[in-house]
Amino acid sequence: MRNEGLGSWPARRARKTPHRTALIHHGTTYTYADLHDRTTRLAHVLRAQGVRRGDRVAYLGPNHPSYLETLFAAGTLGAVFVPLNTRLSTAELAYQIRDSGAKTLLHTGGGDQAKELSVPVTIEAEGGRYEELLATAPADPVDEAVGGDDLCLIMYTSGTTGRPKGAMLTHANLTWNAINVLVDHDLIADEVALVSAPLFHTAGLNMLTLPVLLKGGTCVLVGAFDPEATFDLVRRHGITFMFGVPTMFDLLTRQPAWPTADLSSLRILTCGGAPVPPPLIAAYQERGLTFLQGYGMTEAAPGTLFLDAEHAVSKAGSAGVPHFFSDVQVVGPDLTPVDTGETGEVVVRGPHVMPGYWGLPAETEAAFSDGWFRTGDAARVDADGYVTIVDRFKDMIISGGENIYPAEIEAALLAHPDVAECAVIGVPDEKWGEVPRAIVVPRTGAAPPPESLLASLSGQLAKYKIPKSLILAPELPRTASGKLIKSRLRATYGTAPTLDEQDS
Ligand code: ATP
Ligand code: MG
Repeated sequence: MRNEGLGSWPARRARKTPHRTALIHHGTTYTYADLHDRTTRLAHVLRAQGVRRGDRVAYLGPNHPSYLETLFAAGTLGAVFVPLNTRLSTAELAYQIRDSGAKTLLHTGGGDQAKELSVPVTIEAEGGRYEELLATAPADPVDEAVGGDDLCLIMYTSGTTGRPKGAMLTHANLTWNAINVLVDHDLIADEVALVSAPLFHTAGLNMLTLPVLLKGGTCVLVGAFDPEATFDLVRRHGITFMFGVPTMFDLLTRQPAWPTADLSSLRILTCGGAPVPPPLIAAYQERGLTFLQGYGMTEAAPGTLFLDAEHAVSKAGSAGVPHFFSDVQVVGPDLTPVDTGETGEVVVRGPHVMPGYWGLPAETEAAFSDGWFRTGDAARVDADGYVTIVDRFKDMIISGGENIYPAEIEAALLAHPDVAECAVIGVPDEKWGEVPRAIVVPRTGAAPPPESLLASLSGQLAKYKIPKSLILAPELPRTASGKLIKSRLRATYGTAPTLDEQDS
């Protein structure tokens, strides 16, 4: 039967390249024929458990072959895959199970947490019992019609600005995103990708794994990112393609093995999710490696803007231009494009953009204007059309009528050698309405006086942007994908004493 969805990918690959390696996990190799066979069998298992078209099937665990087997098996049945973030609390997971209405949960890692979630059907998706389940299931093709506009995935946003929302992604959304990645990254069939970014996050799944599997390359699945082990994996598997957030790539440069590690197989390094600091770009350039950079969001499956290798240096700091099948504008409050150099909101339109949020019609309606998805991110466009992301509008501080974007202050503070991490929030002020306050995690061993850190900013930033207070903290609250949770920072540090009060 007609299947235009992701569920048909293993069968299509097995027809073309059955003997090529699709997945490697802890020394076990799975060919595309294996992936097709296992996916088909799992689809029969799920169907026997009552999973039907449109039903939601959740997965909880670190990167593992059964992750992708479940995604494809659900896709074969026209069911909807719901990947869950392993770093959420049981209460947060229970919310996503309830919200998505998943009645089936596949999991790895013992299943203590899975049991607490009280999902009617739970399946352990690793080890002897799972293998037995597959081995005894039928292997004949699953006959189910699936169209491009059918729902494939409910993927929850990171929850940086509030409770995570379920982005509904169709088979077509994911396919067009994968095509955008193939086109803009020049992926080839011989790609060997290191998948250490979690598959429950849009980047690990959609920017790395799915495009490589579409092209017939190999994905090396790693349960957790381990900077020291990464060099060995790169050398052993001849890794050509890696994707990560800037902090991941930064950690690699801080390993003792960094100067001597053999990185000669690496061809494509993509960094996304946050701006790539220029010193990081320089550190990799010294090793002859150039970053590709991406900007996107769960709702857009996620690839939206992309900076290629050719412009990585000349346009450093920019997130690039739209992916091939994506349209992006930077607009003012009246939704018309702002002038070159002016700050406006990023809006995106294209076949990769979700139809809406699961079960949230009001939020969906608010998120779209005239068919454009409103990202809530502030940005500027230069004369060549390159977009620079400024910050989230929700985090913008208005001080005496001036707009202040915390990201600019954070970047200036991060350039200070004693600063390991930092965040800037707005705090109430009688005179200015709001003023910026910095929270800084010093580098190990450093004890910089707050005054000297603030003094280092003068000359770099306009006076009204220089924080009026600075608090040293042992750590900053971050989401599972490493993003600063500004709301929590505001709750914790928004009313803490100011510098002057600390002094007295
Ligand atoms: P929530 O929507 O639940 O508040 P979130 O927006 O962090 O969480 P994601 O979809 O994982 O959830 O992240 C998308 C956001 O990440 C973008 O809207 C943008 O703010 C930020 N982002 C992504 N890539 C970049 C980049 N290259 N530079 C700057 N910011 C980026
Ligand atoms: Mg968001």
